[in-house]
Amino acid sequence: MDYKAILENARASGRTLLTEVESKEVLAAAGIPITTTRLARSRDEAVAIAQDIGLPVVLKIASTDIVHKSDVGGVKLNLTTPEEVAAAYDDIVQAVRSQYPHASIDGVSVQTMARPGTEVILGMTKDPQFGPVLMFGLGGILVEVLKDVSFRIVPITRRDAQQMIREIKAFPVLQGYRSLAPADLDALENLLLKLSEFADHNPEVKELDLNPVFAYSSGAVAVDARIILESPQS
Ligand code: ADP
Ligand code: MG
Repeated sequence: MDYKAILENARASGRTLLTEVESKEVLAAAGIPITTTRLARSRDEAVAIAQDIGLPVVLKIASTDIVHKSDVGGVKLNLTTPEEVAAAYDDIVQAVRSQYPHASIDGVSVQTMARPGTEVILGMTKDPQFGPVLMFGLGGILVEVLKDVSFRIVPITRRDAQQMIREIKAFPVLQGYRSLAPADLDALENLLLKLSEFADHNPEVKELDLNPVFAYSSGAVAVDARIILESPQS
């Protein structure tokens, strides 16, 4: 589907939070590398999708009411058999229902279990004065506690992307550290450039998070994505 249609459908129904499945579909269409992700509406469908895309897989709650999926027991990693997939489907739905009885649940997303990489975060927010601003940082505690991130106003040039990556304090980690292979910096630059282009061409997008992206010695892939739209009246 044309990604504009997904954005328009959500806005027409008065929603501002896209699910991970919708967000990834939009971003994939915009040329951003994401893990193969499909929505299952039943346990059997989850098993069928898992067999189709290939085990091991990850299952996650798909709900427009839930922003932080792992906080509610909504993420199950590295499922290696159809039995594990079936059990994970039930566990996830039950965990969410018991904590949020009124949450609307689309189903559960089934996605390829990505091999481990260095976790980085890419994001876009809007500044009242400067408009869309891109953010880059290393995943986890470094961003949340140390605020070790870099920013640039959209649209960015390749030189901006290069600088964004190099100016975070944790940059040496991306150059290779102990058992960690050096990250593919070109792939990260390309991702930043694609994101800039996407933000520039889609003013209805208010906020965007790729958290995390796994950076590899060759390539990079987003395993989680979230898009928030401007509210229709704004
Ligand atoms: P949350 O909504 O809590 O941010 P995420 O989708 O980011 O949920 O999943 C939590 C963590 O699980 C991620 O930070 C990442 O380390 C891991 N993870 C998520 N999806 C995948 C995947 N497809 N392959 C491998 N690891 C994943
Ligand atoms: Mg996440």
